[in-house]
Amino acid sequence: MSVYSHELLAPGVYAISQGHVRMFLIEGSKRALLLDTGNPGAELNLYVSQLTDKPVTVVLTHAHGDHLGGVEKFPFAYLHPADFSLLAADTKGKYLPLTLDQGFDLGDRFLEVIEIPGHTPGHIALLDKENKMLFSGDTVQTGPIYMFMPHCSFDSFIQSIEKLEARQADFEKIYACHNEMPLGVDILPILKEGAQLMLEGKLDGKKQEPSPGRIMWVYRHKTIAFYGPPVL
Ligand SMILES: [Zn+2]
Repeated sequence: MSVYSHELLAPGVYAISQGHVRMFLIEGSKRALLLDTGNPGAELNLYVSQLTDKPVTVVLTHAHGDHLGGVEKFPFAYLHPADFSLLAADTKGKYLPLTLDQGFDLGDRFLEVIEIPGHTPGHIALLDKENKMLFSGDTVQTGPIYMFMPHCSFDSFIQSIEKLEARQADFEKIYACHNEMPLGVDILPILKEGAQLMLEGKLDGKKQEPSPGRIMWVYRHKTIAFYGPPVL
């Protein structure tokens, strides 16, 4: 049995799930775009070729391991230049710097790149304005969103949410790589408020052990949560 499963979200748009992580295949009349590649170790290229016969461009929302595991199964993947420093020395696959102003023309579908740093310095979202769909990676989701690593920034995160709020007439549904989807635009002010409370030290952290020996601190605010720094 395949480690992947898929769901048709809209004509030509698939969510491909691999355990707890999700990627998206977006097909146009000339090309298809695969956003993220999940965890390593499976034949993602073969799975994708069962869903589309179009040439596939691979784009990454950011450089965390559960998004770039399948890159080596494709000729190359586009990644924001600011995330290249997160790639480990032994990371497999070829990475090309994303050109931000170009967007991705798939024929009858265009995907705009929106920079939304915070979870990582080079995190991006893709916007399909015509179909009112936003693909938000790990940034817009119910979480817990990993925000405890040194490369995470709540200041950048807040600015990114504000940037999306300014564009919210351009999308109705938000497709995240983890947890529930689609999300509505009503999650944006909750994420911003939660991040502001984190900066002010006003959310209470609760200790969790999601797997034996792995201690995480979860900070909840309304419908969302962050994994943040330990409570001293
Ligand atoms: Zn991530």
